[in-house]
Amino acid sequence: MSGGDNLDFEIRPNQAPVSDADRAALLVNPGFGRIFTDHMVTVRYADGKGWYEPLVAARAPIPMDPASAVLHYAQEIFEGLKAYTLPDGGVAMFRPDANAARFNQSAQRMAMPALPVETFLQSLHEIISIDRTWIPEDPEGSLYLRPFAYASEVFLGVRPATEYLYLVIASPVGPYFSGGIKPVTLWASPDFTRAAPGGTGAAKCGGNYAAGLSAQAEAAEHGCDQVIYLDAVERKYIDELGGMNVFLVLDDGTLVTPPLTGTILPGITRDSVIKLAQRAGRRVEERPISLDEWREGATSGRVREAFACGTAAVITPIGAIKSESGDFTVADGGSGEITMAIRQELVDIQRGRAEDPFGWVH
Ligand code: PMP
Repeated sequence: MSGGDNLDFEIRPNQAPVSDADRAALLVNPGFGRIFTDHMVTVRYADGKGWYEPLVAARAPIPMDPASAVLHYAQEIFEGLKAYTLPDGGVAMFRPDANAARFNQSAQRMAMPALPVETFLQSLHEIISIDRTWIPEDPEGSLYLRPFAYASEVFLGVRPATEYLYLVIASPVGPYFSGGIKPVTLWASPDFTRAAPGGTGAAKCGGNYAAGLSAQAEAAEHGCDQVIYLDAVERKYIDELGGMNVFLVLDDGTLVTPPLTGTILPGITRDSVIKLAQRAGRRVEERPISLDEWREGATSGRVREAFACGTAAVITPIGAIKSESGDFTVADGGSGEITMAIRQELVDIQRGRAEDPFGWVH
């Protein structure tokens, strides 16, 4: 590993970038994760050598040996964050240092080498500056950044690889809720869990998402938008969604969210919601929440609102839950007042429209 030292990225601009006219056409309605910019970042790693060959070059397929360890044992981690335009024309990211820290926590869990935080941050700056014209002008659009790393060593033995590749690719995305904010309906799967104690739930590794696909398909079969995972031991407590953390809003304004005990991803949006709420004098409880407590609270009026949160949608109201033990709606199934106020506050900080009390916007 190369300490905390800065790497000097070699820049090889794409010789055949997408034309201005074609890019403008692509940016009209980019959707999510289908369109990519002209460049990518790569940095190699080898045991004994550390991170080397930091490069910004044309986005292109990566040659891969069929015996690359990642294809067999899934030693892979990733991150996701957005770059977007501020009202003054500058470009910002929200808490990229938190993504760098989580990337290294994921690396540690997956027995992968840590990437110096400076290198992670610099790789984001490099791709943003070379592909800046790809950031949608739409004030709700953004450039989604996807840093990831995988075991590139050609070896079929089951042990941590000795060679890795780190990359960053970037994808322009449109507003998450193009038709207005719509509460989601969640499926509490009786069949599938996401993470067991001691497992990889707190790491952002590809395997967690592969394992969630059957559960997501089951949710869709039941007419639900997303899965709300229950704990793997008792199947009683709520953990999180497939890609978002979850909060309940009680009748006295208290926010309640499951604690970080290793089975849920420590979301950066989750952490931001907690810090902003506490700063505003709101009570926040990080404690186990059973599905029964939620159902009873929704019926009695104790649970007034519920929302999911994550980088992609920021905050999404939860309207209803379906489960084998019965369905219920949260209040009237609409978008809660406190939920929407928290959403507005966070989005305004992110987009440079409000004071940034914690210095989160880079
Ligand atoms: N949980 C999971 C499983 C996720 O994939 C994500 C998205 N990264 C989140 C929660 C929310 O995390 P964040 O707020 O950092 O985007």
